[in-house]
Formats: sequence, C-alpha cells, structure tokens
Amino acid sequence: MNAIAAPAVSRATVLRRDEFVAHLHGLVPVGDVVHDEQGRHVYAGDAFGAYQALPLAVVLPATVREVSQVLRYCYEVGLKVFPRGAGTSLVGGAVAAEDGIVLCLSRMNNVLEVDPVNRMVRVEAGITNAAVSTAVAGLGLRFAPDPASWQASTIGGNIATNAGGARGMSVGATGRHVLALKIVLVDGEVIELGGGELEASGLDLIGLVVGAEGMLGVVVEATLRVVPEPETRRLVVLGFQSVLSAVACAGKILSSVIVPTALEVLDREVIAVCEDFGGIGLPRDVEAVLVVEVEGSAEEAEQLGAAVLQAADAYAPVGHLEIADQAQVARSWATFNAAFTGLGRLGTVRCVDIAVPPAKLVEAMTEIGSIATRYGLRGASMCRAAEGIVRSVLLYDGSNSEDIGRVADAMADVARMCAQIGGVLAGEHGVGVAKRDVMSYQLAESDLVFGMRLKSTFDTEWLLSNGKVYPLADQVVQSAVV
Ligand SMILES: Cc1cc2nc3c(=O)[nH]c(=O)nc-3n(C[C@H](O)[C@H](O)[C@H](O)COP(=O)(O)OP(=O)(O)OC[C@H]3O[C@@H](n4cnc5c(N)ncnc54)[C@H](O)[C@@H]3O)c2cc1C
Repeated sequence: MNAIAAPAVSRATVLRRDEFVAHLHGLVPVGDVVHDEQGRHVYAGDAFGAYQALPLAVVLPATVREVSQVLRYCYEVGLKVFPRGAGTSLVGGAVAAEDGIVLCLSRMNNVLEVDPVNRMVRVEAGITNAAVSTAVAGLGLRFAPDPASWQASTIGGNIATNAGGARGMSVGATGRHVLALKIVLVDGEVIELGGGELEASGLDLIGLVVGAEGMLGVVVEATLRVVPEPETRRLVVLGFQSVLSAVACAGKILSSVIVPTALEVLDREVIAVCEDFGGIGLPRDVEAVLVVEVEGSAEEAEQLGAAVLQAADAYAPVGHLEIADQAQVARSWATFNAAFTGLGRLGTVRCVDIAVPPAKLVEAMTEIGSIATRYGLRGASMCRAAEGIVRSVLLYDGSNSEDIGRVADAMADVARMCAQIGGVLAGEHGVGVAKRDVMSYQLAESDLVFGMRLKSTFDTEWLLSNGKVYPLADQVVQSAVV
C-alpha cells in the first residue's frame, strides 16, 4: 500500500501497453525493454520504500540516440517517462506510474574522456559516482561529491538531486562540480549546456537542470571537475553524553580556525548500528559521537587533530578515538555510510531529511525528537553539522496502517517546524513524492507557481517525472492550464 497519494492513472493508456511495448522494441534492442511483470516489479520502487507503482515497461537505452528516439516516441503518443539511475532515491523520486515507462540509464555507464590537464572527466550519466573516482584514481584525482550512496548511485541521479555528502562542507554538492551537460528534452531534442573546461557565462542553464529531479530533461552525459586526492585523512571521534553537546561542540570547531573536511554527529542508535556492522571501535556507552575529519600531510593532519581536541575540550567529551590509518579511515566511512541501511533491521525506515541554518541544528534535532515521542515512534539521528543537514529516521511498522498514518502526521509536523526555523525541506535528498505535498509549508504560492510555469515551458504536458516535486493538487491545475 502506498502511504502517499499517487496521481490519477489513465486506464486507457494502461490498456494500450502491448502497442507501446511493440513500438519500443523497434527503437532499442528487444532485450532492452523489460515488459514482463516480474521484471517490471524490480523497478516498481526505490530506496524510499513507502511508494510504489508498476510501470508499463522499463527501457534500458545504451546510447544518446536511443534515449532521444524513445523520448520522441513517448512525446508523440503522450506517454509519461520517469528517468532513473540506480533507484537509491530516498524520496520516491525514481518511482514511475502505472501509465508511464521507466527510462533507466544504468547501461550508459562509460567514461568518455579523461583530461588530467584540465582536471575534468566526461562520462555517461548512468555511471556510478564511485566509478568516476576509480577512473581517475591512477592520476591521484577523485570526483569530490561523496553521497553515502556513492558506490551505487549514478552521476545522472546525483545531478538530478544535487546530491551532497559528508565532505559537502568543504567540497559543496554535486552541482559545483558540473562543467557541462548533454540532456535530452521531452520531445527527443538533444542539447548541450555549459562550457566544458571553462565556466559557462550567461544564464546558468546547468544550474537549472541540477536538482530538477528529472523534471526538465534527461541527463545523458556530464563533464565533471575532478580534484586531487589529499595526502592523508584523519578522523577524530569524540563521545558525548548528549546529542546537543555534540552539535554544540561541532559549532565551536566551526567557529575556530580549524577547517575540517567533515563534521558528522551520530546518535546512540546509529552508533550501535555502525558498531554491529563495522566494529570500528565507537563508544557504545555515549549518547552521541562527533566525527571530525581533517586532511593534509600526515604531520598537518596530526596537528589539526590536536587542535580539534583542544577546541572540543570545553565541551567535556567523554573519551575520544583517533583514526589515522588510511584503510581504517576508509572503512570507517563505509561503516557510517551503511548506517541508514543498517537501521532498516530495526523496522520500516522513514527518512527525515531537511536542511536548517547550522545555528538552528540543536533546535531542529530537539524538535524532531519531541515529534517522534509525541507520535510514539522510535527515532535515530545523524547530521552534517556544518551544513545544517539533519538526517533523522523514524522507525515504524510498515504493515500497520495506524503507524503509516502516524508517520505521515509526524512528517507534516517536521515540515512545519523546518519552515518555521527557516530551513529547506528538500534537504539533501530532494523532494520526490515524499515531501511534494508539504512544499507549500516552505514556499509561497507565487514561488510554487513560478516553478511550475518553468516546468511547463520545458514540458507542456508534464510527461517527465509526472507527479513529483510540486503539490499534487497544484500540478493537476497547472498542467491543465497550459
Ligand atoms: C543508503 C543511502 C544513502 C544515501 N546517502 C545520500 C547522501 O549522503 N547524500 C545525498 O544527497 N543523497 C543520498 N542518498 C539518496 C540518493 O542516493 C541520491 O539522491 C542519489 O543522487 C540518487 O541517485 P540514483 O542514481 O540512485 O538516482 P535515482 O534514485 O534513480 O533517481 C533519483 C532522481 O533523479 C532522477 N534521475 C536519475 N537519473 C537521471 C538522469 N539521467 N536524468 C535526469 N534525471 C535523472 C530521477 O528521475 C529521480 O527524480 C542516499 C540513499 C541511500 C539509499
């Protein structure tokens, strides 16, 4: 059962499924159209879990030409298209509709060009974030944005959601690393945006597509900036008897002269999951840990680590751990990145992902804790302290309709609180369907209408990623007036 309303399905379109599939078979090799029920089920959901829809078919193009031909055909017959990368969306962004097709880019995963002199790499959109770094690792370079899903999520998905990561405070989100894009518009036209090795001037069209969640076009190629790997990384892990002390300590470090590359707070539930999975030596008898990463030469990193300990002293951390061995640092991040998946063993997980002004982090986390308690839900929290990104989860029984209702009410309260303290509901993961209907808590009616008019300019019939990002009721009105 979907916990979130789905757009109306055109039964007439669903009844024409065989006809659409036959046409699609003429556009891409037969094996690249998944149309049996079992195969379509694989693409019915994404990592969000609370929203599913069995698509009419799934098309797995291998070339830009195939993407263009498929889009042109769908445009001509008025078929909805849902671009998809790896399906790691935590907001239902990659879920299609019963009267639409999934256009999955995962087979377009080639590195097209590596240019070490200009420190850039051109790739197809279905390549994973990790594979981009692997392609340039031999040159001592890496693709800097590092969402926790980096091993699985694709560059197309990272661009569509403007994915951020633990090192977002130092490197920024994905959009800052995109130099040029090739996208296919809803009618199949292929356009190129940006300036390759030079920053493009004029209207920031790349900025328009980054974070658009597949609403404006399908990203097929990207030219990305790559940066040198640091000589070493060092982690300083500090234990605290409250989440609030950990967050306050992070604030102190931020306001000092130290420039850390990551500042993550993990609460007791998350620590337990990390330890069960990775056994990296986090203290289990504290309420929170603050993970501070610094980088530089071994000597610099050691000095920065000492400065972190000194800055933290006033907050009386209960013990600390320093991790300097590079393999151990990598293992620690792999463990932190797996925490979300690990929490899934405790119940159905609903991710609460918002961004708030860093000075309001303590307030936001306290409020989320109170909201969880008010609705009788168990919660767990991590946050990226420098950017004010709160990544909490609510744990519930996904087969219990009362629990589903309580989670929906709790999410609405979180959205209200986020808007009240000047936060951003899209957070790191975007809007998708999960936050679609609460966007009006944050955005004024005129802002929502402007965004929808922009969408209509690119896609008059709202065929791309239909039913996402904007409140469902407003979308129906807006797509009817164009
Ligand atoms: C365990 C876990 C940890 C995560 N950690 C983070 C994190 O640290 N930071 C973060 O930002 N996110 C995180 N996420 C969320 C998710 O991984 C990101 O949103 C990621 O960018 C999605 O990439 P994807 O390839 O899986 O895209 P999908 O899930 O397939 O799609 C996501 C959205 O992008 C659109 N899209 C996909 N490909 C294209 C394309 N080629 N052209 C146009 N639109 C496209 C889809 O239509 C959809 O709207 C995490 C998810 C999981 C499961």
